[in-house]
Amino acid sequence: MKKQKAKLLVLKDVDLIDGNMDNIQKNMVIIIRNGIIEKIRKYGELEIPKGGQIITLSGKTVIPGLIDSHVHLCQSGVDDFMKPFAERLITKFKRNCLITIRSGVTTVRNMPGVRGYRIFKYRKKVAQGKIVGPRILASGPAITTPYSYFSILSFLPFSPFVRFFIERLFGVRGLSIDVNNEKEAKEIVRRLKKEGVDFIKTITPGSPYYPFAKEEKMKLELLQKGLKKEQIEASMQPEILKAITEEAYQLNLKVACHNIYRPEEFYEAVVAGANSIEHSPIGLMSEKTFDLMKEKGIFWVPTIYAFYNWKNIIDNPELFETAEIKELIPEPLHSHGKKSLQQLRNDIKNGGIWGKFYKEMEPLQQKYFPENLKLAIEKGVKIAAGVDCGAGGAGYVPHGQLYKELEVYINNGMSEFSAIQTATKNAAELLGIIDKVGTIEEGKVGNIVVLESNPLKKISNLNNVNLVIKRGDIVYSKDVEL
Ligand SMILES: [Zn+2]
Repeated sequence: MKKQKAKLLVLKDVDLIDGNMDNIQKNMVIIIRNGIIEKIRKYGELEIPKGGQIITLSGKTVIPGLIDSHVHLCQSGVDDFMKPFAERLITKFKRNCLITIRSGVTTVRNMPGVRGYRIFKYRKKVAQGKIVGPRILASGPAITTPYSYFSILSFLPFSPFVRFFIERLFGVRGLSIDVNNEKEAKEIVRRLKKEGVDFIKTITPGSPYYPFAKEEKMKLELLQKGLKKEQIEASMQPEILKAITEEAYQLNLKVACHNIYRPEEFYEAVVAGANSIEHSPIGLMSEKTFDLMKEKGIFWVPTIYAFYNWKNIIDNPELFETAEIKELIPEPLHSHGKKSLQQLRNDIKNGGIWGKFYKEMEPLQQKYFPENLKLAIEKGVKIAAGVDCGAGGAGYVPHGQLYKELEVYINNGMSEFSAIQTATKNAAELLGIIDKVGTIEEGKVGNIVVLESNPLKKISNLNNVNLVIKRGDIVYSKDVEL
């Protein structure tokens, strides 16, 4: 696919949702010059400049380029970090980028994956236009606690010297970095800054078994099944997280904190000053957590759709066999995903550890989300949408599914307009790029999605994309091969 260059692009007779106003402005003209939105006027109120590409879009709706605040572009949602060489990473990355762009997403905050340093090279190729994809803000490896499920130590308990080579051999280098104390925390943040990260990702609750481990009987069972005590109890000390956020603040980096199990840990991350908390806790959030988030301007990125989808696919494995899924997750990854799905289903049946985790914890995530969301909205906590597309371990969520996250918000009481803002204006604020993107305004970057119909009427209309414009270039067109 070649990019079509247009120094001057005019979108004529569009219905505009600009991301600021909770309404639709009919029959508008948008002029984009050299990638920047120059003018927005009512159709007929200005002379259309000559010499550019003029597209008449009567009846279509335009919205700001969408922003996904939580994706893994180097993974495809089928535990493929366990199979790092099943497909060339660049092949996978390019496909996931294209799927993302076609879904109207022009900016992403990319989370860790295997070979986590590669993303800096890929980010550059996208910025140079050599790969068609969204603008990427990248974290590189996650900072986590030793023996957490994201820690290399969980997989490779060798001496640091041996690990160095094994990490490279198995391609897991760059997934995560373990931190042991506050001094190390600050050093790691500085090192990551030098590597070129746009933000820091931390994983504080290290163990999915932790909530079980409080019961002695369960803990014993886990130990008998071969898990180490450190693995079961892994959790980052709040002082270490505080050291990370403080150092990051000094270096002008934001901190995203993965927090998925206990509401108390979620609260600790808020106190420590993370800029966003990723995922949804299994438990009711306290008023004081949301009050403090509102006060400090901390965002919540629930990634709730991944959990809904996970359950749905496990209960109905035929959903993983559709032509659409096979296109989004092609071979050999699809077969790998099918196998791990079957394993999990067996594990659930036989009462294995992971099966037990799924059965007891999974319903809780969905049980508490509606109430937590209601309270967050009531308290005025800003929410940014992320889908965890590509994440391994849970979800089976392929790329390009952002609208489905918004659907869950709306089904739980959020307005359509606010839902769109979670994937535009709010997300741009969280990413620290609201001066450039997130809304359609004169002077901002020309990132625009043209939809066949109005998403305020039905949010799934977001999935019917006609054109995607990034920096004034048409990067996807439904009707024309570019
Ligand atoms: Zn994730």
